Amino acid sequence: MRNRSSALLAVLLAGCAAVPLDSSAIPHPSSRGGPAVAAPYPYREAVGVIHIHSTYSDGLKPVEAIARIANAQELDFLIFTDHDTLRGRREGKEGWHGETLVLIDEEISTKGGHYLALGLAREVPRLEDARWTIEAVSRQGALGFIAHPFWPRRPWKDLDAHGMTGLEIYSAVQDVTEENVLLLGFWTIFTGSEFSLIQWLNRPSETLALWDRMLARGERVVGIGSPDAHGLRRWGLQLGPYATMFKLVRDHLLVRELSRPAIYDALAKGRLFVAHDLVADARGFTFLAVRRNALEGVMGDQVKWRRDLRLYAYLPSPGKMSLFRDGKPVAEAAGQHGWFPVSGPGIYRLEATRKGKPWIYSNPLYVIE
Ligand SMILES: [Zn+2]
Ligand SMILES: [Zn+2]
Repeated sequence: MRNRSSALLAVLLAGCAAVPLDSSAIPHPSSRGGPAVAAPYPYREAVGVIHIHSTYSDGLKPVEAIARIANAQELDFLIFTDHDTLRGRREGKEGWHGETLVLIDEEISTKGGHYLALGLAREVPRLEDARWTIEAVSRQGALGFIAHPFWPRRPWKDLDAHGMTGLEIYSAVQDVTEENVLLLGFWTIFTGSEFSLIQWLNRPSETLALWDRMLARGERVVGIGSPDAHGLRRWGLQLGPYATMFKLVRDHLLVRELSRPAIYDALAKGRLFVAHDLVADARGFTFLAVRRNALEGVMGDQVKWRRDLRLYAYLPSPGKMSLFRDGKPVAEAAGQHGWFPVSGPGIYRLEATRKGKPWIYSNPLYVIE
């Protein structure tokens, strides 16, 4: 089945050479275990972590030490978001640390919750009204994401606010409670295993419902996932090590090159998926719209509806897929390949689980009249 579908997709996508392409810059995701789709596929996958704290705010380690951890995990990028400061950028920490591109951005404290701002030229004042902050970030042409909307300690209060780029659809601080982290700390000490964190992964149903409501208002809202990694230490125990948090949730971006503008562009357009790579390596996941012999679009794209439009999903290892249309589950598939007819316009996104655990959340494909 796998070979047949992959071959079929290769044939289908062989016809999409019209996509502008600088072939020299684009190793295909299949080189990392993805599907054998044809070479004209215009993107490569950049895997990284967004929302990390260093010693520039309340994180445990300095940027360089954290970047070394990312390097060891072969992460393509890291986005630091220390609280209310861009000092790390001013001190020259942004740039390549080994094979990992480090970007220095900011988590802004507002009166109504925390807001991640990516690509700011200068800091936005803290403790202002949330809507004022959203506007101030947009005015600088930067991207803004609501952080941990339902974290009881710092919830996002204004759920009707708009104008942001997106929100954290998965936030580790919301999901993995401090009590669990404490248990994890003891588990890690006694067993030396970090994988018990999988036990506490939950589908963030409340946040996903919020996302679907926002999308239903007709706004493009990009979903990202974040560990909010601090290298948490309590009672002398290291409870949330960066290395573990970096596997717990990652953002997989489709980019044409690995650069600061390309990363922000993928984040602005929603050309990404969120994955718990601790559950299984998610590199190579694919969610496409195809029609006849052409690639019609990837996540974040707007695609015109036609009767013969189909959605295709590929999982890098077997799992279960659920397709959502306008927030409602409409189809399921199991295994590695899913082909789905498109019965009409709508906002289509895909979730995947593996062995009963949440695994992958796609960004939507927008199918229009
Ligand atoms: Zn926060
Ligand atoms: Zn944070």
